Amino acid sequence: MDLNNLEKVLEDEPRYRLKQARKAVFKNFISDWSEAIFFTKDLREKLNKECPLGIKADVLVSKREDSVKARITLKDNLQIESVLMKHLDGRNTVCVSSQVGCPLGCLFCATGRMGFKRNLTSDEIIEQVIFFNRWLKIDRHRVSIQAQRVTNVTYMGMGEPFLNYDNVLRAIRILNDKEYFDIGARLISVSTAGIIEAIKKFSEEGLQVNLAISLHAPNDKLRKSLMPIDKKYPLEAVLKAVDGYIKKTNRQVMFEYVFIKGVNDSDECARELAKLVKKPLYYVNLILYNATPSAGSGQAGIFKPSTSERVEKFKAILKKNKIVFSQRYRFGDDIQAACGQFVIHR
Ligand code: SAH
Ligand code: SF4
Repeated sequence: MDLNNLEKVLEDEPRYRLKQARKAVFKNFISDWSEAIFFTKDLREKLNKECPLGIKADVLVSKREDSVKARITLKDNLQIESVLMKHLDGRNTVCVSSQVGCPLGCLFCATGRMGFKRNLTSDEIIEQVIFFNRWLKIDRHRVSIQAQRVTNVTYMGMGEPFLNYDNVLRAIRILNDKEYFDIGARLISVSTAGIIEAIKKFSEEGLQVNLAISLHAPNDKLRKSLMPIDKKYPLEAVLKAVDGYIKKTNRQVMFEYVFIKGVNDSDECARELAKLVKKPLYYVNLILYNATPSAGSGQAGIFKPSTSERVEKFKAILKKNKIVFSQRYRFGDDIQAACGQFVIHR
């Protein structure tokens, strides 16, 4: 897909033509200009040549059919992954990638172990949402239920969104724009490993977008051993930036905590975590560690998810300390589409 020339191709046409074209792409999710029958045949052909709408992707559907993974091939042949999660309550969440790979190298994360290739453009970010809107459009015909579209977007795919700040923000504004996707800001979430300058900048944007922080450990010693970025941005400084964000926006902040067996799931970790996050507008999202494909080197494959017994004990301590928390439902672990399982396949 390449819409860079859209305005240029339509510059000699009346202004409303551009609106029609945008509506066709971002509201009706056409995948070929031949579907835009309100344009002349010549114009449709010109648009197909100069603003192609095709998205190259391989698709995997989970056994429960509630999650779909797309491996999208970009113009330079690099690949990214995005996932659609269909919730029972009708929400359709797309988990988008913001980079090809990730430079931060968290030890538990498949993307982190693949290294970093490049940032995605804002077009490449929104292309992922377009892809699943088209998917849902066809899906709807198949099972003949109500019209479906992408309702929520989370930046929890490959990459660190706050290291690609400008493109991520540009994409958020397009997702939010009424003339484009019209997805409410409160239905968009950004997850970061804790890039302090970006958290500060994000506080100033005047957006109602949700912020999530990947915490995963209640102290620097442990966090550093899992997330190398903690050396540059230690916990205290990250939480200070988060407090600044809360002061400015008065919005809740979610702290993600992945349960890794024998690493961060002890009673002591729970007590330490409770102390750390016992603040207004903080809440914890607990995630079971998803096994990541063995990369055959270093730390790969050494982690395991915590037992459910351990998780329950951990949760009981949080409860006793009156910490607000939720546990994330696991989508798509059979198609390697769960958090931290995003990998580059070439
Ligand atoms: N780079 C950003 C966003 C992408 S990762 C960040 O780190 O926040 C999205 C979420 O998946 C993060 O909370 C990340 O820590 C988590 N994650 C990474 N690897 C995981 C794994 N193997 N199992 C479960 N969650 C994982
Ligand atoms: Fe990058 Fe997030 Fe994975 Fe860490 S968890 S390596 S920051 S994608």
